[in-house]
Amino acid sequence: MTVRVIPSGTKPAWHKEKIQDMDTNDKNRRKRQSMTLYVLLGLLLLALLRSFVFPSVINGSVRETSYSDFLSKVDSGEVTKVDLTTDSGEITYQTGEGPSAQLYRTTQFPNDSTLVTRLEEAGVDFSAHLPDESATLLVYLLINLLPLIIFLFGGWLLNRRLRKELGDDNSMSFGGGFGIGGGLGRSGAKEVRGEETGVTFRDVAGQDEAKESLQEIVGFLKNPDRYAEIGAKLPHGALLVGPPGTGKTLLAKAVAGEANVPFFSISGSEFVEMFVGRGAAKVRDLFKQANDKAPCIVFIDEIDAVGKRRDSSFTSNDEREQTLNQLLAEMDGFDNHKGIVVFAATNRPESLDPALTRPGRFDRRIPVELPDLAGREAILKLHANDVKMEAGIDFGVIARQTPGASGADLANMINEAALRAVRMGRNRVSQADILESVDVVIAGEKKKSTVLSEHEKEVVAYHETGHAIVAAVQDGKKPVSKITIVPRTGGALGFTMQTEEDEHYLTTREEYKQQIAVLCGGRAAEELIFGQMTSGAANDIERATKIARAMVTQLGMSERFGMMALGQSRNQYLGGDATLTCSEGTAQEIDAEVQRLVEEGHQTALETLRRNRFKLHEIAHYLQRKETITGEEFMRILTRDDGFAPRMPAAEE
Ligand code: ADP
Ligand code: MG
Ligand code: ZN
Repeated sequence: MTVRVIPSGTKPAWHKEKIQDMDTNDKNRRKRQSMTLYVLLGLLLLALLRSFVFPSVINGSVRETSYSDFLSKVDSGEVTKVDLTTDSGEITYQTGEGPSAQLYRTTQFPNDSTLVTRLEEAGVDFSAHLPDESATLLVYLLINLLPLIIFLFGGWLLNRRLRKELGDDNSMSFGGGFGIGGGLGRSGAKEVRGEETGVTFRDVAGQDEAKESLQEIVGFLKNPDRYAEIGAKLPHGALLVGPPGTGKTLLAKAVAGEANVPFFSISGSEFVEMFVGRGAAKVRDLFKQANDKAPCIVFIDEIDAVGKRRDSSFTSNDEREQTLNQLLAEMDGFDNHKGIVVFAATNRPESLDPALTRPGRFDRRIPVELPDLAGREAILKLHANDVKMEAGIDFGVIARQTPGASGADLANMINEAALRAVRMGRNRVSQADILESVDVVIAGEKKKSTVLSEHEKEVVAYHETGHAIVAAVQDGKKPVSKITIVPRTGGALGFTMQTEEDEHYLTTREEYKQQIAVLCGGRAAEELIFGQMTSGAANDIERATKIARAMVTQLGMSERFGMMALGQSRNQYLGGDATLTCSEGTAQEIDAEVQRLVEEGHQTALETLRRNRFKLHEIAHYLQRKETITGEEFMRILTRDDGFAPRMPAAEE
């Protein structure tokens, strides 16, 4: 499967014929002009240098001689005139008179005190003068000229670089502001021929709804005329929205592959240029290219970089707004009977300018969500096809362990597993490799450099066991599948993994409360056993508080406020934090309510661990010895002999 990407610097052959033919003459003329200018400039410089640095070389009549030669010529009476430059000790002398005169040059021998007497004896006309004024002038000129030369040279280099970058040799000339203002040319959109992207819907696992909505567009691209005949208007554009790594780019490529049309891809950030106006020119050019190649797909990745809501904030960005306006105009302008579909991808749909999403522009919105259990399994299997696997690997287990993982995460896991297999000197990937790579992707590599003291290890072991026991006594929908106290490069000193049996889409208030209690379990164990608090619970606290806050402000799950919305969620696909939409007084009450919820979970955890104190000791010590234990080992100890029946302490509301 090869993808041919034409680098932006080189132009595809068709472009050469299409675009260059109309302005070849113009281009050549300008090229010649700028060449002439450079040559003239060079000549001028040379002339200046020659007249000041080597003034006498020009007339070619001064000969260099040795000092002894000079002396002997003085003694023999040939020399008629001597001129000494003080400081530099340079002597210029003349032999003969009139037309037969010849100039020589030499340098005075240091401390030759006899020279004056000798010259007098020989009856030579001699004089001395201060260093030449022309030399001073030269220094003066150089100081003034050098910056200019550097500036011109810099401008020329920049000009050349810009042209190269844009693959653009029809836009700039020397006269246009030394290369800075020019280069309003090619968009740099890469054209990847549809049939060569090699990506089809078969390469996208899961995402069935998205594929279904895209199927219609594929039909349209394959056969635009059929739609035109009836007079049906197809969407100009479709917006793929979803969290990072869910396959938005992949889907857009797959549509091009399915429909067998060219795929023009450009990233939103590429439009935002340093010079105002260039982004807009890129947009114009992109659509011009697309128009020539229709039917085709134009894909604008990360469109939020240009498509951000225009508002009257201080930080308005002229370049971005111009680019956006141009984009809006182009999307209105193109004739869709030809079959151009513009795809755009973003994970911040709420920040997009409403003008972009109105009918006639990006009027279709295709959600590309995180994969569910079945989707994850499918993605794992798909990517597993690319590597050699041992027979009988259970992808379902792995899919269950990775709720919330995106397609990109899962692809990464398979790759990490393959890397691990190689490291272990095996030629096939085993189940253990994948399970280990899940941890690597979630928490980072094992960190060998961190060596915990025995005491710290004990604390971490109790902390993790605390989480696990609180998790285990709950309704059993989320059993513990793994506990480990191996430090990770992600910063965790250990973690407890819970696996959901079946995926569900609704979460009850009770379940949220349980989650908070489980998160409090680590700190509770530390308090109970060591009577101390450590920094190890920071992440737990953060997460527990976040859940509690969402319960109060967004989910209507508090007695105090009931079903009142107190916050507005932002960045749904990027973490989903919320801004409060209430008065300050209410904000204080919210804090109190959140604190109450977290504290309730904390008390539940403490109570649970108090009741299971012996198990806590036993499992923590076992974990400290083994460093990583499976869910089965954990449950075996927890439920062994003394008639332990996992159950919640009586919930006190
Ligand atoms: P996005 O554009 O949504 O951020 P990409 O399309 O760039 O994500 O996906 C990144 C990578 O993740 C893809 O190249 C692919 O290997 C993998 N991937 C993501 N989703 C899927 C999927 N549904 N099926 C197969 N592979 C996927
Ligand atoms: Mg992408
Ligand atoms: Zn913890």
